[in-house]
Amino acid sequence: MMPMEPAVREILCKSALTKSGITDYALNPYVGCAHNCVYCYASFMARFSRHDRPWGQWVDVKVNAPEALAEDLRRARRRAQADSKSLEVIMSSVTDPYQPLERKYRITRTCLEVFAGELPGRRVGLFLTRDHRGSPHPDVSVLTKSDLVLRDIDVLQSIPSVEVGLSITSVDDAISRLYEPIASPATKRLAALRELSRAGLKTWAFISPVLPYHSDSENAMLGILRAIRDTGASRVMVDRFNPYPASVSRFLRVAPPEAARALREYTHNQAEYLDRLRDTVLECASKLEVAVRVLF
Ligand code: SF4
Repeated sequence: MMPMEPAVREILCKSALTKSGITDYALNPYVGCAHNCVYCYASFMARFSRHDRPWGQWVDVKVNAPEALAEDLRRARRRAQADSKSLEVIMSSVTDPYQPLERKYRITRTCLEVFAGELPGRRVGLFLTRDHRGSPHPDVSVLTKSDLVLRDIDVLQSIPSVEVGLSITSVDDAISRLYEPIASPATKRLAALRELSRAGLKTWAFISPVLPYHSDSENAMLGILRAIRDTGASRVMVDRFNPYPASVSRFLRVAPPEAARALREYTHNQAEYLDRLRDTVLECASKLEVAVRVLF
């Protein structure tokens, strides 16, 4: 069955940067995400939308995000300089900056042009590139599940401090199609990481979420970490499956019986499962000499 086209609405935003618990600021060029991953915890955003369709089937496009970003950056830079602090922006936290509509709207690309110092008709000063300890710090971190990011290698290369991350949840295209139906398949994401690294960009991988049954065994984790290491990514972060009720019920709707059983076992005894998973990840990383940060 062909996936349903999302309902699209063009909106104006008052500001582009929002305070973030992950870094200083998050920049979400869209509201909603047509990648429609079954475990998506950003689906809580649906509560704030006026769409009557379920999460994954609507997207609001912030058509003025680049102009708003230019204004926000000027203010954020002044504040950071006054406090002698670094400025980090993650793109994105509750949407994917390279979901299919980006091909048409190019909002993410134009925001990157703002970070690079260019906006049609204006020049935007670059902001801080060092943290308060004086060490180099990436200013802009892009995170996506789409190889559409390759379109923007030229702009990414012109940002002084940027890193690009791909979310990798397995190395098997059949698994990514099952749980992340519209995102690029796993092998294309790995290929994108390799191409970005070859283009001289700093890259990283986010194993998030670790999929119960499919990715949490030693064998599966070794396979994923080895594939990531071979792309030239400089670091890996790992996060657990967040067992929000909506994520769990969407996962159970499509998961094969073994994966459904594994998720139920995890949700019934989270502490034990997470301890075991943490050990597995760290042991695999140490075997392969991959730098890993576990977020749970
Ligand atoms: S790509 Fe990220 S934001 Fe988009 S549906 Fe998937 S998990 Fe949610």
